[in-house]
Amino acid sequence: MNGNRGLLIGRMQPVHKGHISVIKETLKEVDELIIGVGSSDKSHTNSNPFTGGERILMLTKALREFNIDPARYYIIPLEDIACNSLWVGHVKMLTPPFNNVYSGNSLVQQLFEEEDIPVIQPPLFNRTEYSGTEVRKRILNNENWEELVPYSVVEVINEIKGVERIRKLNKKEISELI
Ligand code: NAD
Repeated sequence: MNGNRGLLIGRMQPVHKGHISVIKETLKEVDELIIGVGSSDKSHTNSNPFTGGERILMLTKALREFNIDPARYYIIPLEDIACNSLWVGHVKMLTPPFNNVYSGNSLVQQLFEEEDIPVIQPPLFNRTEYSGTEVRKRILNNENWEELVPYSVVEVINEIKGVERIRKLNKKEISELI
């Protein structure tokens, strides 16, 4: 393989400033980075409100906002599959070849390591605030979620009426519990 190509996978529900920091840091170590948008088939649930396509839009615009050279990365949607033991092969089928995986997710780490693919744990940036769970919680509670995501992601979430979607999904879940 020419050069060093890394793979970073994230659900990115939604893309936040932690994702941008880890992408910038990882690009210091690799020539090219494959960014896999995980669970790309999931949407319209409380933990996965946004579609794969919406998350690709967020990521594309956020990376442009941060002046990250588009020649250095590939954005690939990765749908989930039922069998964890087959997942690495599924990911390899969908992505360009890569040397290393960058992930803080313990299951992702375990599955790649079992296939003898080196995994690097990237540093976390302000994880208490820069997390998809925190962004979605703030949207529900009418708190300042905008400061946790790039400005271009605020624009995409507004364009797709994402705040209304998250609040409706939450009401639906509560009514199903009653
Ligand atoms: P995530 O969006 O929570 O995080 C993605 C990565 O971003 C993390 O590994 C972490 O390194 C980084 N990150 C997040 N917040 C950060 C911060 N504040 N600072 C620095 N870095 C930060 O996504 P995830 O849960 O890790 O995604 C894993 C994906 O793999 C999911 O979509 C999951 O469904 C998929 N998966 C699928 C199967 C299957 O289909 N059988 C099996 C395993 C994993």
